[in-house]
Amino acid sequence: MTGSAPLIGIVGSGIAGLRAANALLKCGVDARIVILGDEAHRTYSRPGLTKKRYPPPDGIEAATEGLKVPGVENTALTWHLDTRVETADLRDRVLRLSTGDTLAYDRLVIASGVRPRTSAEGDRECAVHAHRTLRGLDDARSIHQELQKSKKVTIAGAGFVACELASLAKEYGCEVVMLEALRHGPFERILGTTTARSLRSWIARNGVTFLTGDAARNMLCDGAGRLAKDASGSKDAYLEPASDRSLYIEAIGSVPNVEWLRGNGLDLSDGVRVDEYMRVSECEDVFAAGDIARYPDPWTSESHTRMEFWKNAIDTGDLAGKSLASSLGYDAKISRIKYFPNMVTEVFGLRIQIAGNPKISDSMEIVRGDLERPDHGVVVKYLREGAMVGAAYLDRGARLNSLYIELLTALRAR
Ligand SMILES: Cc1cc2nc3c(=O)[nH]c(=O)nc-3n(C[C@H](O)[C@H](O)[C@H](O)COP(=O)(O)OP(=O)(O)OC[C@H]3O[C@@H](n4cnc5c(N)ncnc54)[C@H](O)[C@@H]3O)c2cc1C
Repeated sequence: MTGSAPLIGIVGSGIAGLRAANALLKCGVDARIVILGDEAHRTYSRPGLTKKRYPPPDGIEAATEGLKVPGVENTALTWHLDTRVETADLRDRVLRLSTGDTLAYDRLVIASGVRPRTSAEGDRECAVHAHRTLRGLDDARSIHQELQKSKKVTIAGAGFVACELASLAKEYGCEVVMLEALRHGPFERILGTTTARSLRSWIARNGVTFLTGDAARNMLCDGAGRLAKDASGSKDAYLEPASDRSLYIEAIGSVPNVEWLRGNGLDLSDGVRVDEYMRVSECEDVFAAGDIARYPDPWTSESHTRMEFWKNAIDTGDLAGKSLASSLGYDAKISRIKYFPNMVTEVFGLRIQIAGNPKISDSMEIVRGDLERPDHGVVVKYLREGAMVGAAYLDRGARLNSLYIELLTALRAR
């Protein structure tokens, strides 16, 4: 340790980083805690970015306030916002920051999350589209403003962010095209082909052109700038981007923010691998939490899993903080991660609830309702070797709520 009160560095000012700090403070750890985040904002509700018309008309300040996540305030806690950690030397326990400073720590929590995956990194702007991705509050602000002005928006992807954005764009009055080149419809990887097709037709019934396969592939744009013949027609030249390009939003998955950790011998193949207490296996003084943490899957006990859900970031952030406190000798009552995946989204007024791990199922069963009419309520059970491993509930109201809760209770008890 570098002094009597150890210094704990937390990289990432999102919900996982905040919850790790809160857990440390609640455990009464006598330490200095520094949270480093490359965004300019204190922790806010990331899911809120696509749930309502944020930011409201009165601007960024109101938006930040409206989505703010409260945390325990304490003089032991220091925030360094707008500060990027460029590299980490885990052997010498030093972080190098974008400000040019270094920070020596005694214990480290990695909570740097993920960023949107993009189809290509171009150094020129595409002449045809204004390309956007959505992860943070600043992205949300510009996308919302542009949606208010745009007539036409193309959305590549069919996950939660893509579907919620399509719903928002229609609310703003845009003409919306969704592209899913590889599969049949929304959430197919989680809920399977039949449910995905039902969701696709729900979205189409709400006025979105939903293209899959070759039709979608032909409209994909890599954003690297489209080549066109110059005026003489003799050689390729870049078109200058027009000011009224249509909006093209890529929501095609994410990439863990691990680059700053390279060169330390960690397994960074998909996020940061940890054990069931959020401890980084290769480094006893380092912990990881949130979207970036890949931990032993409590649902299959065969592999590691990485979850990109708000509640997961809360639970793993808490656990990382407690594990760290325990490593400093505090009685933190840690228990291994027992994550119960459970999430909700809303697409064109259709509430979609998913629990457990339908992804690992080998069959599905409709318990009640009809996938042709999801707005009238439909409950689906997902099975693996005959045992329930997941459930989904689609509805415009809450007609089948008690039935769904019964399934959740059975799933939790499995
Ligand atoms: C638009 C949108 C809607 C969503 N909706 C839902 C939903 O409805 N339900 C749900 O369960 N989940 C939803 N999610 C997912 C959920 O928001 C995430 O699972 C959660 O925010 C992850 O928290 P985190 O703290 O792990 O990561 P993050 O919130 O990403 O925080 C990590 C922070 O670290 C920063 N950072 C990265 N690298 C560095 C570095 N080198 N130095 C300093 N800082 C760095 C990042 O910029 C970021 O601020 C949504 C996500 C998005 C983007």
